[in-house]
Amino acid sequence: MKRNPETMRIEERTAVGSPKGYEPGDPGADYSSTAKVVTVELGGLNNSGVGGGDGGGGPERARVLMNFGEHARELISSEIALGLLRILESEQKIQQAAGGGAVGQQTLDALKHTTLVILPMENISGRKLLEENNDTCLRKTGRPVEGGVGVDPNRNWGVDWGVLEKDYNPSEEYGGAEAFSEPEARIIKKLVEELKIHAWVNVHSGMAAMFLPIDYQAQVPEDVGMLHNSRIIGSLKAKYCPVCEIGSGGATVGYKAHGTIVDYLWEEAKVPFPMTWEVMGDTQAPFYDCVRMFNPLTKAEFNDVVHRWSAATLEMVRLLPLNPKIPKYDSFVAPSIAELPVPDMKGFTAWHKERIQKLKNQPSAKPDGTTGGVEAGDAGSREKDGGGGREGGGGQHGEEEERGEEEQHGEEEQHEEEEQHKGGGHREDERDEEEAAALEEAEAEDLEDFRESGKETGEGQQGSSQDSHIGHGTGANSRPQEKGSIYQNRPIYRGGQEVSSNPLHLQFLLFGCLFGLLFFGLQLRKRYRAKVRSRRAIRSFSGRQIGLPI
Ligand SMILES: [Zn+2]
Repeated sequence: MKRNPETMRIEERTAVGSPKGYEPGDPGADYSSTAKVVTVELGGLNNSGVGGGDGGGGPERARVLMNFGEHARELISSEIALGLLRILESEQKIQQAAGGGAVGQQTLDALKHTTLVILPMENISGRKLLEENNDTCLRKTGRPVEGGVGVDPNRNWGVDWGVLEKDYNPSEEYGGAEAFSEPEARIIKKLVEELKIHAWVNVHSGMAAMFLPIDYQAQVPEDVGMLHNSRIIGSLKAKYCPVCEIGSGGATVGYKAHGTIVDYLWEEAKVPFPMTWEVMGDTQAPFYDCVRMFNPLTKAEFNDVVHRWSAATLEMVRLLPLNPKIPKYDSFVAPSIAELPVPDMKGFTAWHKERIQKLKNQPSAKPDGTTGGVEAGDAGSREKDGGGGREGGGGQHGEEEERGEEEQHGEEEQHEEEEQHKGGGHREDERDEEEAAALEEAEAEDLEDFRESGKETGEGQQGSSQDSHIGHGTGANSRPQEKGSIYQNRPIYRGGQEVSSNPLHLQFLLFGCLFGLLFFGLQLRKRYRAKVRSRRAIRSFSGRQIGLPI
C-alpha cells in the first residue's frame, strides 16, 4: 500500500493494562498493547498529533474514528480497513468508489472537511494468538486471565459494566477485572477524548447488520439526532447492504450486552453518531468452522465485502452532516425526507414513531432551507437540536451510472486483491502446498454443498444470528445451529440381547453401524477441510503484510 504523506499519517499508540486481579509476576500482570493508528486528512494533515484537531484555523472538520479487528476471529474486519485506506490514497479512487458524478464530488468535498482516524487492528494480541495456534474461533484478546485466555474488549467499557445475562459465557464475553482494565479499551478511550469525535464506527462480522445504541436495552435512544442517524443508515442499507438488519444492538441481536463501547460513547462521551457494523456472516456454518462463520471464503466474496463496506464508509462521511451536531462541508445538501426517509429500525419507541410521522407530514423544505419538523417539540429528548440542516433536494444522480462505475471499480479492486493474495503465497511451505492442493480438490464440492444449503434456507450468506460482536459465536450457545442438520433426522437404533437373535434386527444394526461410520467419516473430512481452509485463510488475509504488528 502506498501512503500519501500529505494526507495520511501512521503512528503507534500504547497502553498498559490494569494489574487488578493479578499478583506481581503473574502472567498477564504487565500486559500492554500497541496499536497502529492511521490519520487521514484529505484537506491536508494537521500535524498537531493524532487527528490534528482544528488548530489550523479553518472551518471545523467532522472527526470520525473507526476501529477494526476488535474480535480476533473476524479477520475480514481489518481487511476492510486496508481496502478503505487503499481507496483513500487518491481522489480518483474515492470518486470512483463513491459512484462518481455529483455524489463522488460531494464525497470528496466531505472527506476534505473530515479528520478520519482508523485503527486497522485493535485486538493485536488476540490475532497473534489465533495465528500462532490456528485457533480461528478465538474472539477475545491474548491477555492471560484466570481460567484461560482473554478479555472481550467490547465488554470492558464503563457503562453497565459487569452485568451478566443468564446465558453469560466467560469464554466468549469475559469483560475484565474492572471497567477499562484493558489496554485495548484505554487506547480507544484516549483517542475519543483527544479527538472529541463526532462519529464512531466499530466494524465486526458474524451477521449482516448495523446497530445504533443501546446494547444493554432493547431500544434506540429517544433523541432527535438518532432519527437523522437512522436516515444515514437507511442510505447505507439501500446502497450497500439490503439484507442488513438495523436497529439498536439490544433489540436487533435478540439479547442484551453490557459494558460495550457503543453505549459508553453514547451515554458518557456524548458522541452524536456512534454505531456498530456487522459486515457479513454465515449462520449455516458449523460451530467449529469460525473462518466460514465470520469471514468470506472466496476471493469474489472477499472483494465484494471489502468494496461494499469501504464504499459505505464514504457514503456515511458524505451524509454525516444530516446530524445537526456534525459540522457541514461546503457542498453539503441534505436529501429531503422523501428522498431519504427514516427507515424502520428495531428498537424504535412510540417517541420515535410520533416524530417520524411529523416528518412525513411536513410540507417540503421551507424557502430558508430548514424544515424544523423533527426538531420541534422534542422537549423530552436528551438534547435540543438547533437548525435541522439544509433540507432540500439535490445531491442524487442516476442509479444506473452509479452501478456501472461501481462494477468497473469492483474489477480494479479484485485485481488488486488478487495481487495481494499472491503476495501471501510466498510464505507457504511444502506441507502447506500439499494441504492447499488437497483443499482445492475438495473445496469446489464443499462450496457447492454450502451454497445449496444456503438456498434451502432462503437466507444464503447473510442474515440474523447470535454470532455477532455482542453475541456468542461458538461453543454451547451456537450448537443449536446444528439442530437443522442431519443430527435431527438421524435414526436411533436400539441394541440389546434379543437383537442379536433376530436376523432382521441384525441387519438394521449392521446398517446403523455402517451409517454411523459413514457419517463419522464425513464429519471428520469436513473438519479436516475446515482446518486446512483456516490455515490458508489466515495466510491470505493481509493484515501483517502492511506492517501491522502481528
Ligand atoms: Zn465481533
